[in-house]
Amino acid sequence: MINIAIDGPAGSGKSTVAKLIAKKLNILYLDTGAMYRACGLKATALGISCNDEQGVNSFINGIDLQVKYENGTQHVYLDGEDVSESIRKNEVSKMASDISKWPMVRAKMVQMQRDVASKQHCVLDGRDICMYVLPNAKYKFFMTASAEVRAQRRCNELEQKGQAVDYDAILKEINQRDYNDSHRAHSPLAKAPDAELLDTSYISAEEVANYIIEKVKKGENL
Ligand code: C5P
Repeated sequence: MINIAIDGPAGSGKSTVAKLIAKKLNILYLDTGAMYRACGLKATALGISCNDEQGVNSFINGIDLQVKYENGTQHVYLDGEDVSESIRKNEVSKMASDISKWPMVRAKMVQMQRDVASKQHCVLDGRDICMYVLPNAKYKFFMTASAEVRAQRRCNELEQKGQAVDYDAILKEINQRDYNDSHRAHSPLAKAPDAELLDTSYISAEEVANYIIEKVKKGENL
């Protein structure tokens, strides 16, 4: 199976690049962040704080979370309801970052992710893909960009969706989320030693995607 693993902080352009790769190589894209977002949404709907480990553990193994592909787009279903739109809301980012620190949550999500990756050619993006989810992936990348560039990208994204934006608040949130993600005890965000570092501050997603595609084509004789 072709497995392309991409890690990086929020706003580094991972998902844009991964989507382009998936489209051009006609393989599956699994957005693992979306799965943690759905877990956060579920806890909140149950009135459980994402920081309450016991509370979270009480429902996580039985979570009804499904990732489906409809017309080439990933849809996330929670209890049978399509939550693909609601998980993208800004407040859900914090819930995902909080809930993703718990070992039971990670174990459950990683199991689902490995299952998907063992069955088809795919590109996965997240925080722990290269080191933990798919340590044997042939293609591994760590994408990053300055916090300022990433905050601006997030503002543009939210603006396009008609959501209110406050650059300073978003920059603060991004820095806080980077800190949380890279300081947690389990699978903290870090570049795998064998992942290639790609700084996307000043190059377009298209260029990064093409660079990765060329590598894969060469590696697979496509
Ligand atoms: O990538 P996205 O911003 O959607 O991820 C939301 C949060 O989910 C991240 O801040 C991180 O805490 C968590 N996450 C994770 N491991 C992954 C993907 C996302 O811990 N593989």
